[in-house]
Amino acid sequence: MTSVAAILPIDTEKIRLDFPILQTKVYGRPLVYFDNAATTQKPVQVLETLERYYTEYNSNVHRGVHLLSQQATEAYEESRRKITSLINARHDHEVIFTKGTTNSINLVASSFGKTFIGENDEVLISAMEHHSNIVPWQLICEQQKAQLKVIPINEKGELDMTAFERLLTPKVKIVAVTWVSNSLGTVNPVNDIIAKAHARGIPVLLDGAQAIQHMPVDVQALDVDFLAFSGHKMYGPTGIGILYGKEEWLNKMPPYEGGGDMIKQVTFARTTFNELPFKFEAGTPDISGAIALGAAADYIQKIGLENIQQAEAALINYAYERLAAIEGLRFIGDAAHRAGAISFLVKDIHPFDMGELLDKQSIAVRTGHHCTQPLMDIFGIPGTVRASFAFYNTKEEVDYLVAGINKAAQMLQ
Ligand code: PLP
Repeated sequence: MTSVAAILPIDTEKIRLDFPILQTKVYGRPLVYFDNAATTQKPVQVLETLERYYTEYNSNVHRGVHLLSQQATEAYEESRRKITSLINARHDHEVIFTKGTTNSINLVASSFGKTFIGENDEVLISAMEHHSNIVPWQLICEQQKAQLKVIPINEKGELDMTAFERLLTPKVKIVAVTWVSNSLGTVNPVNDIIAKAHARGIPVLLDGAQAIQHMPVDVQALDVDFLAFSGHKMYGPTGIGILYGKEEWLNKMPPYEGGGDMIKQVTFARTTFNELPFKFEAGTPDISGAIALGAAADYIQKIGLENIQQAEAALINYAYERLAAIEGLRFIGDAAHRAGAISFLVKDIHPFDMGELLDKQSIAVRTGHHCTQPLMDIFGIPGTVRASFAFYNTKEEVDYLVAGINKAAQMLQ
């Protein structure tokens, strides 16, 4: 077999030095971190950006005339421009800073929902959604007396596109689907989904929480209406995320939250609202988080998202082959097009038991339902063991995981 190191387009060994946590040990052994779908580790470039903000120009944005406030505002807006470039948005004001994917989806569900979803209308999601792309729509559907409809999946964990077309009736006011499944690793055919929905005049929201860190994203080429993602899953800090929305939609949507920054003028009788993007950024934002998210965007763009995609695909293929050879291991989800995560069960071993024994061997994986309980119900299982990959993971770590699983399986049988 060709060595993965030989075909990787990036220098993994060098890149790992950027991540202080990857140099640490747990239980006296080097950390092997395969829980990247839950959150990624942070490079020094991001950590130093956070520290620099707090030690050199900590100040509120868009408010003060003093130098520090101007510096903070400039860095905050510069970061917005970096995200605009990362996703190739047409305008900077189409990029809204939020707390993360969950917050971004809640914003759209509430603000779009109150305006465009009415009684007997439908919202179309898929069977593989994270709770964050289910519950906000349930809440707005209940409020507006609308219905939530679900695109089914096949046994490989791929969307049933024939059923999708059948479900795309004039009642559907928005389609909200994940780009990449956090539990199965399925990459959905988003170009096709958007084209088919648009052919019927229906807007599409993509949950990009598991896509943005794994592949090049171009919102103009996709023609997507809304894209939600989290900073902490793309090597940035927690507490910050992005909602991209097409200007024409965002302009038609009412504010989600009221407070400072989102207003033009306030009287006790009436308030007029600020222009985009500030209309959707009420209160003091996560300034340090936003600025450090810009540093994370710089970091992955410097490595190159095509390179990241290629390196991770090679590693995932290798992991898939090695895991498939483990006696009694079965994959949960076996999509032809995949990224990020591999989910599996070994014999009848409970995922928590496997997770605990891997942890004791310094291997961090996720176990459980991964915030996709309805999906686990479809597969008739309580949960899975999930190994999720980043470009800093190595072939040696995959070998160590495979050995760890074999060892755990022996102990548990
Ligand atoms: N959507 C998907 C597909 C996810 O994987 C996650 C997090 O795991 C979320 C939404 C929620 O992201 P956050 O908790 O950062 O808001």
